[in-house]
Amino acid sequence: MILIPLVQEICLEENRNKVKVNNMELVQSSKEAIALENKHGAHNYHPLPVVLSKGDGVFMWDVEGKKYYDFLSAYSAVNQGHCHPRIVGALKEQAEQLTLTSRAFYNDVLGPYERFVTEYFGFDKVLPMNTGAEAVETAIKIARKWGYEKKGVEENESKIIVFDQNFHGRTTTIISFSSDQDARRNFGPFTEGFIKIPYNDTAALEEALKIDNVVGVLIEPIQGEAGVNVPATDFMKEVARLCKESNVLFMADEIQTGIGRTGSLLAVCGECDCAGHCERKSSYARPDMLILGKAISGGVYPVSAVLADDHIMEVITPGTHGSTFGGNPVAGAVAMAALEVIRDEKLTQNARKLGEIFRERMNQFIETTELVTLVRGRGLLNAIVINDKPSSSTAWDICVKLKDNGLLAKPTHGNIIRFAPPLVMTEEQLHECCDIIEKTIREFEKQGR
Ligand SMILES: *Cc1c(COP(=O)(O)O)cnc(C)c1O
Repeated sequence: MILIPLVQEICLEENRNKVKVNNMELVQSSKEAIALENKHGAHNYHPLPVVLSKGDGVFMWDVEGKKYYDFLSAYSAVNQGHCHPRIVGALKEQAEQLTLTSRAFYNDVLGPYERFVTEYFGFDKVLPMNTGAEAVETAIKIARKWGYEKKGVEENESKIIVFDQNFHGRTTTIISFSSDQDARRNFGPFTEGFIKIPYNDTAALEEALKIDNVVGVLIEPIQGEAGVNVPATDFMKEVARLCKESNVLFMADEIQTGIGRTGSLLAVCGECDCAGHCERKSSYARPDMLILGKAISGGVYPVSAVLADDHIMEVITPGTHGSTFGGNPVAGAVAMAALEVIRDEKLTQNARKLGEIFRERMNQFIETTELVTLVRGRGLLNAIVINDKPSSSTAWDICVKLKDNGLLAKPTHGNIIRFAPPLVMTEEQLHECCDIIEKTIREFEKQGR
C-alpha cells in the first residue's frame, strides 16, 4: 500500500511536535483523515469536521489532542461512558477465550446471558441480534408470524401500525414506512403492510386499530431522531391498553430511549425509577415486544435484542430466523457487563437527576435569548429548538461553534439540536457544559447572524 507512507509524510509535516497516541508512531491530522474518508468512503453521512481518536467517560479527544465533552453519546449507545473499563475488560477477556461459534453449536456464554437479560427486563425469552435495524426487522417478522399462526390473520394480509416521523433504522423494509424522503428516495419498491398514523394521537390509533388484520403497533416511546418528540404522559399507557383490547402486539423500539437514557430503565417505565421490576408500578406500559440495541453494549460492540414472552416468541422455530453473529459469546459477555454498569453505578437515577437540572438551566436561559425557543426531553435525552427555519443552517453553525468551544452535539431535523451526554456525567460537569452551551449561543447572537 502506497497510501500509508504518503499519509505519514504529510502528517510529519503538519504534526512535528505530536505525542504518540495509541502506540502509533504518527498521527493523522484531522484534515488528512477527513480527506481520506471523503476519497475512499461512501458519502452516506455528513459529519461535523472533527476527527476523534480517544474516548474516556464523558470525554473524547481529537487527533490534535483537543478535548471535548460528548453530547451525542453515539446516538445514545455510549450511555455508560466511553471505554468503560468493566465493559472493555469483559470484551478483552471473552475475546481471548472464544469469539464466535455461530449458532450451529451451543456456546457457554449465550445461556447465562439470555437468563441475565430476560430477568433484567422481565420477559420470558430473548432473540439476540447485532444491530438495531436487525432487531426491528426481527420484531416485524415475529409480529407477522404471530398474526398468522396465533391471531388467525390470512397469509400475506398482516398490517403493522407505525407513526409519522418514525426512525427505526435503514433496511429496505424499515425505510418503506419512513417519513424521511432522503431515506426513501430511489430505494423503492417498498415493503407493504404498514399503516402510518400521527404520533401522540390516541384517537388516530383507535381508528387504525379497527382496520382488519392489524398484528402490531411499532413505536418509539420518545421519537429521538425526529427531534426528541415526547408524547403526552399517558400516551404509552394508552398504546398498551388499546393494543391489548384489540389483540395486537405492542412493539416498543427502545433502541435509543432504553437502558437508563430517559431517567428510567426504559422509557415505557414512565415515571418510575425501577430497574426492571416495574410490573407493580402503575406508570409502566409493558410492551409485548421490547426492542433494544445501542447502549445494551455500552457502545463497545454491536449487540441488539428482541424480548418477548413465550406465547409470542414460540412462533420462532429452527430455520425461521437467524444471524451468524447474533448471540455470539463476545456480545453476551459485553452486554452483561454493560447492563451491570447501568445498575451498579445507578446511571438511570443520575440521568433523571441531571436531566431535571439541564432542562431547568435551559429554561432559564431561554428567557434571556431569542435564539432558542424550547427545551424538551426526559432524563438525559433532550433537545433545544432553534428559532429559525428547519431549512436554515443555524443549528449546524451553532454545533460547529459548540465544537470549537469543546462540546460535541449534532443537529437533528434541521433546526433542532439533540443533547444526550453519557449518563456517567457529574453534576459539576453538567453545569460546565450548560455554561459552554449558553456562552456559544450568546457568541452566535453577537456575530453569527
Ligand atoms: C439507532 C436506532 C435504530 C437503528 O439502530 P442501528 O444499530 O443503527 O441499526 C432503530 N431505532 C431507533 C429508535 C434508533 O435510535
